[in-house]
Amino acid sequence: MKRLIAALFSLLCLSLPAHAEWLNRVEDGIMGTRIVVELWADDRDQGEAAIEAVLDEMRRVDRDMSTFKPTSEVSIVNATAASKAVPISAELFDLLTQAAEYSRLTEGAFDITYASVGYMYDFHEHKRPTQKQIDNALPAVNYRHVLLDARTRTVRFSQPGVRIDLGGIGKGHAVDRGIAILQQRGISHALVTAGGDSRIIGDRFGHPWVVGIRHPDRKDEVIARIPLEDTAISTSGDYERYFEENGVRYHHIIDPHTGQSARKVRSATIIGPTATRTDGLSKTAFVLGAEKAIEIYNRIEGIDAIIVKPDGKVLYTQGLEAPAAPAK
Ligand code: ADP
Ligand code: MG
Repeated sequence: MKRLIAALFSLLCLSLPAHAEWLNRVEDGIMGTRIVVELWADDRDQGEAAIEAVLDEMRRVDRDMSTFKPTSEVSIVNATAASKAVPISAELFDLLTQAAEYSRLTEGAFDITYASVGYMYDFHEHKRPTQKQIDNALPAVNYRHVLLDARTRTVRFSQPGVRIDLGGIGKGHAVDRGIAILQQRGISHALVTAGGDSRIIGDRFGHPWVVGIRHPDRKDEVIARIPLEDTAISTSGDYERYFEENGVRYHHIIDPHTGQSARKVRSATIIGPTATRTDGLSKTAFVLGAEKAIEIYNRIEGIDAIIVKPDGKVLYTQGLEAPAAPAK
């Protein structure tokens, strides 16, 4: 009997591809965050090479788009676009076009020119601008100041003082680029995460991937677990990058209308087709409030959301069902 089982077992093993297995990599530091790549590889070496290619691509996106790097394409735009039209790469042009779309969809809550004020915050150093500095810089915050010309593939700012920052969609974009690289290599079951932005292709062989949404205050507590396949998911939270002063929390999502941290919700999770899109939409509720944001999300094809309000109440878009027990 034992021998029969052993024979059956080896037969089973033979029927699988030679080294098929799940590979997993966690890498800290790229784009100032944690990258996770998990994939099913028919061949270990090819799988590892695919992971390296994803990480290289993320480093490249960081190099081109970080405003912390003075030589990045975005930094060059910031330095020159107020005085002349600047020719830019097709990739940046496309991303700026998408950013403008998210600004329109969210009635200006998402706005890459937040950076005209936002650059004066340093959450690591606990630095924030004075009200006078905010008042002076605020007229430069408006996505309509970013003028795109598709014919010449250039960008120009309509006035001095405008700065852009792609921190609100950059990680989502990098995740989508990573997924595209895996698909080109024939990989059909994978998860790519950069900080709060993830995208999944395929399932985990008959089972969905399960992504947890954390409690805004209690790091190890999960308020909902969501089974997902072939989708993207982004979470923004006021607990990611912040400091507190006299009981007030200053955090990294800025209300374009006031130049202050946007405090109307604690966290927002968006589910949708691409990570660029879910990333671009996850800031909205902080600025507009949960109810208004849910209204907007319900109108956008293929988008779902889970929002945690300051009092702990959780709101869902109509495509999702509320779990039995509400979060405390
Ligand atoms: P992460 O940076 O971890 O992906 P989020 O997806 O929540 O976190 O994005 C927060 C980032 O978005 C901020 O660090 C900043 O770069 C950018 N940002 C802040 N406020 C806005 C806004 N109103 N519109 C667009 N981008 C914003
Ligand atoms: Mg993000």
